[in-house]
Amino acid sequence: MSRIWDTVVVGAGPTGCLVADRLQQRGLGVLVVDAGRRPRVGERAAEIDRRIWSYRSVGGSYDWYRVRAVGGRTLLWGGWSHRFPAASLRRSGWPYGEDVLGPLYDEIEADLGVVEGTLDARYERAARTLDVRIVPKRAPLVEGGAVWTALRTSVAPRARTLAAVLGLEHERGNATAARFIDLRDGMHKRFRARSFVLAASPIETTRILLQSELGRAGKGIGRGFVDHMVASYVLLEPVPAPPPGGRGRFPGAALVECFVNTGARTRRSYRGGFSIEVAGPVPLDVLGIERTVPAAEVERWSATLIHALGETFPHPRRFVDLDREVRDVLGRPIPRIHVAWSREERRMAAEMKTACVRFADTLGAPGSRLISFVDPLLAGAGHEAGTASMGDDPNRPCDPWGRLRALGNVWIADASVMPTAGDRHPTLTLLAHARRAADSVAAFLACAAGASTQQGQPSGSPR
Ligand SMILES: Cc1cc2nc3c(=O)[nH]c(=O)nc-3n(C[C@H](O)[C@H](O)[C@H](O)COP(=O)(O)OP(=O)(O)OC[C@H]3O[C@@H](n4cnc5c(N)ncnc54)[C@H](O)[C@@H]3O)c2cc1C
Repeated sequence: MSRIWDTVVVGAGPTGCLVADRLQQRGLGVLVVDAGRRPRVGERAAEIDRRIWSYRSVGGSYDWYRVRAVGGRTLLWGGWSHRFPAASLRRSGWPYGEDVLGPLYDEIEADLGVVEGTLDARYERAARTLDVRIVPKRAPLVEGGAVWTALRTSVAPRARTLAAVLGLEHERGNATAARFIDLRDGMHKRFRARSFVLAASPIETTRILLQSELGRAGKGIGRGFVDHMVASYVLLEPVPAPPPGGRGRFPGAALVECFVNTGARTRRSYRGGFSIEVAGPVPLDVLGIERTVPAAEVERWSATLIHALGETFPHPRRFVDLDREVRDVLGRPIPRIHVAWSREERRMAAEMKTACVRFADTLGAPGSRLISFVDPLLAGAGHEAGTASMGDDPNRPCDPWGRLRALGNVWIADASVMPTAGDRHPTLTLLAHARRAADSVAAFLACAAGASTQQGQPSGSPR
């Protein structure tokens, strides 16, 4: 506890692990802490303890997937890894463009082993009929064909587990320690460091910051909260599924991206866009929906998932704050999630549903049935973002490197920094951001060490 680390990284999900890996490669002393346990490689995430991780939603329901374990939500994820298009970055106010992101995407894809799947000819035909662009799924695969998880990083085995970070202590605009509850003995303790990286996922990062007594400097934290809208369907077809492995690495998976609201092709009235993911066909038991057809017919049917992810923009009535009247079992005020939809978003939700249904109608074999699973206005996709967005504008909580304006030695590596939810799955882009944040931390530490040496202080001491 008395050691002063170069960097303490809060959260051992993919973004925290990537930052820590990168800093360790540069010879820095890094501690990664996580509130959860360390599962085995290949193990799925356990249900979270909702007494410890309770919250309240206001103005609408909000529930989302959370994981409290080393590896974070990559213990559940589908691996979809598509780059954000340049136009999408521009319209969302992302503080840098393709020129910066391109090389970062190249590096991350190579490190994680992102490969392209096989495009089902039926999907291709449906897309052609609808005049939309379709591309095969891209995902990071590891040996055995499993999707990469953050457990594969070199830092994951050494992460300090069962440490739930509560807040940051600070002096003169710099953080000095991360306060945490040791879930093994219930004691309050602290980790000291020269720099800190928050990668606990946006709602938890927001709680940590709001509990850090930042005063006026923390203005804006929790505002700008966004998530994907999700329209989700299962297409049931009276056609047997192909045998396992019969259609390549990701049988039938594809991303339909022409619904993105870019360029002159579209006159849509909303600012954001959406993409559609299609995956399957698989046997009904893979999705646990055998009961949707008579028992004797199960073998004759297959299921294809069709879902749209829609981009939301900040809304003045959508934000995260803390309910200081209600405490969880650890004594922390619980996050309060305020839900609201703009007229544009409601319009896009309707269009997302129409687009999924049209795709299903075009794709489905005669006699198919479409089951609606998730409505876009039921909030909570598990891609929450935007609560400490980054940009050149000094009113944004973070600078374009994810460095917190309120505390000069704190960076945010998770989706809190995203200006919008984006129009597709975010993790590849988040990892690119995390890499930039890590480089910024390393530059800060090198500069601090150089300045300290010049002043006759021990190298690396905090300034
Ligand atoms: C079902 C599902 C499927 C998904 N599929 C895809 C996909 O196909 N493609 C894609 O790009 N994205 C997908 N995602 C999203 C993806 O998983 C996230 O974007 C990604 O995991 C975010 O990484 P992160 O490191 O920022 O946060 P997380 O993965 O959430 O990790 C946060 C870590 O912080 C820890 N933590 C939380 N609070 C504290 C605290 N107070 N103190 C200490 N530690 C704390 C947690 O235990 C956790 O390990 C999916 C998500 C879900 C839920």
